[in-house]
Amino acid sequence: MNDQTPDVLRPRRAKILATVGPASRSPEMLRRLFLAGADTFRLNFSHGSHDDHRQAFDTIRALEAEFGQPIGILQDLQGPKIRISQVPGGPREVAAGDTLTLRLGNKGDDIPLPHPEIFAAIRPGHQLLIDDGRIRLEAVAHDADSLTARVIAGGRILDRKGVNLPDTVVALPALTEKDRTDLEFGLSLGVDWVALSFVQRPEDLVEAKALIRGRAGLIAKIEKPSALDSLPQIVAEADGVMIARGDLGVEIPPEDVPGRQKEIIRLCRQSDRPVIVATQMLESMITTPTPTRAEASDVATAVYDGTDVVMLSAETASGQYPVEAVAMMDRIIRRTEAHPFYSASLQAAAPHVDTAEQAIAFAAVELADALSSPAIVSFSSTGASGRRIVSHRSPRTTVLLTGDEAVARRMSLVWGVRSVHEAEISDHDTVPIHAAEAVLDLGIGKPGDKIVVVCGFPFGVPGTTNSIRVTPLGQY
Ligand code: PGA
Ligand code: MN
Repeated sequence: MNDQTPDVLRPRRAKILATVGPASRSPEMLRRLFLAGADTFRLNFSHGSHDDHRQAFDTIRALEAEFGQPIGILQDLQGPKIRISQVPGGPREVAAGDTLTLRLGNKGDDIPLPHPEIFAAIRPGHQLLIDDGRIRLEAVAHDADSLTARVIAGGRILDRKGVNLPDTVVALPALTEKDRTDLEFGLSLGVDWVALSFVQRPEDLVEAKALIRGRAGLIAKIEKPSALDSLPQIVAEADGVMIARGDLGVEIPPEDVPGRQKEIIRLCRQSDRPVIVATQMLESMITTPTPTRAEASDVATAVYDGTDVVMLSAETASGQYPVEAVAMMDRIIRRTEAHPFYSASLQAAAPHVDTAEQAIAFAAVELADALSSPAIVSFSSTGASGRRIVSHRSPRTTVLLTGDEAVARRMSLVWGVRSVHEAEISDHDTVPIHAAEAVLDLGIGKPGDKIVVVCGFPFGVPGTTNSIRVTPLGQY
């Protein structure tokens, strides 16, 4: 055993997703972020070269081998992000009331906007928001390759800044050429999760899934108003969801984001899909070693609502205090989970119990409560049984034993699951022994405690969860 073990054991339920970037790409920094509490790492394909990502990927897999604990890796695809190109003559200062021309190609001082779909779809009165909404324009007139706009809120327009068009339904592909190349690359590395940006319709996910072919879980990033319109279908189609508040908060009014966040978290919990709350969680820690009180409260609110994961973006990718940001998030989560209101607030969104599998998961949770069990152990080849158990947000630790390493890694985005990858078991009689050993190995419980074991017979056949056993620790 390593003397780092107590840190690695992570006595908390909500998980931390840390974005890798220039501030955290070195083996030394990735190691420090992992030890500080990062459960999963996000490779952001909006930035960095394939070589950069491959290096980070290899380092993370080496950490996983060293610590003997599954670590998730999420590939975030840029998606059809709209950007202006280079601003002719350098950064452009614009003021409210000015008129500005944007153009498909390059001509004079016009701002190049290399997206023909926009010129086809935009209408007078539609808003164009540049640089996360800092600069607001309103379209006045347009033709097939140019548009004039009035400046509503001015500022400095810099090269390659993003553009959001909340009023315009732009016929964008779900995956750009770059996304397709990046996806092939990510899958060849062996990423555990793929996140799709700017999802607008459930069909966008169908297209991505056809390319992924089960090699990774698919996360739908919710950052377009059109995605909010078909949320239940999108959640059903995806394996998980990210509340991408950065772009979402530009496309819809910021005051609508908190309520939407609560709705999405609740829907995901009731659909057994892991959910990530992302962006600006500890934003001020990009440049200062402590967060604002409002930021601490933001992380805590997501945890009280029962989110599976909280995410760090620039804080760990390019900020000055990446390790401090992860450590702070870890502390806020732990403190929140220890608070007396925590349990009660989680129960506000209890999942439905309809199917036999759901009833078994619910019964296991109740049984564990009645017995004051330190742990519920799920034997699962797909992880679905473990996800059903934690959807009740039981305070007991849920340990998932799986023979599939990929499943063990994917669980690093799932609330409360501690996954252990071990050889597939074929003998029914050894189930309690394996379960008890795994729990004691993780340092949970003490001899004599009773644990609840959920499994299915026959073994290794997905969808057979059908039995619950109670077994004492340390009797073998
Ligand atoms: P991004 O996604 O960082 O890839 O833009 C997250 C968000 O928009 O919040
Ligand atoms: Mn985004």
